Amino acid sequence: MRMLRRPASIALAAVMILSAFTAQAADITVEPIKFNDPDFIRGMDISSVLSLERSGVTYMTSDGKREDIFKILSDSGVNYIRVRVWNDPFNSDGKGYGGGNNDVNSAAVIGRRAAQYGMKLLVDFHYSDFWADPAKQTAPKAWSKLTVSEKEAALYDYTLSSLKTIKEAGADIGMVQIGNETTTGIAGEYDRAGMARLFSAGAKAVRDFDSDVMVALHFTNPERTQYIKGIVDFLDEYKVDYDVFAVSYYPYWHGSLSNLTDVLSYAADKYGKFAMVAETSYANTLSDTDGHINTVSKGSNDTGADLLWDLSVQGQADELRSVMDAVNNVGERGLGVFYWEGAWITVGDTSGLTGKDYTERLKLNKELWESCGSGWAASYSAEYDPDDAGRWYGGSAVDNQAFFDPSGRALPSLRVFGDVVYKEPYILGDVDGSGEADIIDASFVQRYSTGVAVVFKKSEIKRGDVDRDGETDVSDATFIQRYATNFAVPYPIGETVG
Ligand code: CA
Repeated sequence: MRMLRRPASIALAAVMILSAFTAQAADITVEPIKFNDPDFIRGMDISSVLSLERSGVTYMTSDGKREDIFKILSDSGVNYIRVRVWNDPFNSDGKGYGGGNNDVNSAAVIGRRAAQYGMKLLVDFHYSDFWADPAKQTAPKAWSKLTVSEKEAALYDYTLSSLKTIKEAGADIGMVQIGNETTTGIAGEYDRAGMARLFSAGAKAVRDFDSDVMVALHFTNPERTQYIKGIVDFLDEYKVDYDVFAVSYYPYWHGSLSNLTDVLSYAADKYGKFAMVAETSYANTLSDTDGHINTVSKGSNDTGADLLWDLSVQGQADELRSVMDAVNNVGERGLGVFYWEGAWITVGDTSGLTGKDYTERLKLNKELWESCGSGWAASYSAEYDPDDAGRWYGGSAVDNQAFFDPSGRALPSLRVFGDVVYKEPYILGDVDGSGEADIIDASFVQRYSTGVAVVFKKSEIKRGDVDRDGETDVSDATFIQRYATNFAVPYPIGETVG
């Protein structure tokens, strides 16, 4: 994601106040997808989350219950977390550049918290001290004078040691990205031979770390179809070792969904790579809630032939569902989709505020962005990136693309992560799949619940959870037995359920 580099004007702020966010969004519907892979990645990047928590942000379930955001995401069906890593996002006084101040230590904490709720981690190394994207691939300060050969060694060592740190903290690392949106370069190297050497050095570090962890390379601008396919060819030509070809897909910039499927299929079909979308997002409103202008706002990225969905909570869910479908259409090698920064909400809601109230709230927000790193950039980034971040620093440009409202409460669209998975209908209580719930099923559930080994798969055992409390246990066995012997039961045992 390229950050928006222009500050909110007073005139724009006035417009945004008029269209202030309405808190209680309506419920949504999601058409399920039959994924080729049952473990299809339904991931979210929440790199800024620690800086938001430092700023006082808390998160709630859609029912308004305060909860650890990692639990909320896992309960909603998110199965993978992505986190960016910058080598050294701090100035000479130790002040953070912002954008979450995401170094290895942040990634370790985020990875540990994700693992606590059963979510894997994608570590997204930028190999820069701040944002890396098609416009910028600045080498880390410590590498600025290194030759390509020296960078290869430094990148290898840094990757391996960082992964060890993140793993030791308790993270379940499933995938590692060697660079971020490296369409034009990586770590200050812009010719293809140099880029290939750095990709390969990173890949080797991942292989040496753990041969089960997938290596991903990440590019953007899939709408430049032939150019991107040329990158896939160049990776093969230079014998770069990797598993996953990943692109960003922001529908206001990156072309049609059919083109997306085409580009990903090229890597999958021609070279046998897995393919995925490492970043996507969509606005659920045109309103801003933190006083920093959003990437998608009135007159900016809000129209276009490829914007097929309403700019609404339902539209946000529809967009993600459609992108997942486009990746699933790649076939067996369509790996999944990560939504970008789905929790980067405001640090202080400016909705409805005017005049002095608005100015004062914005002042407080600016202080939080500076002190906690919760904006896209802080003034301290000037030392490293004087012309862009150091000049246009500020808050979140994507608070209207999050899955949480300005108070931190989950929007109904968050349910897309779970509801998108097609669930085969089954007969409640029919564990052995005989077509009815009978005394034999009751016996199987009884044995399972008392720790006796049974041959059934998890999905089959789940059919015995007739009171649907998440556990298949002895009370379920009793209910099935009662049903089988013609006693009344308070659950639809023997009926087809979804
Ligand atoms: Ca904003």
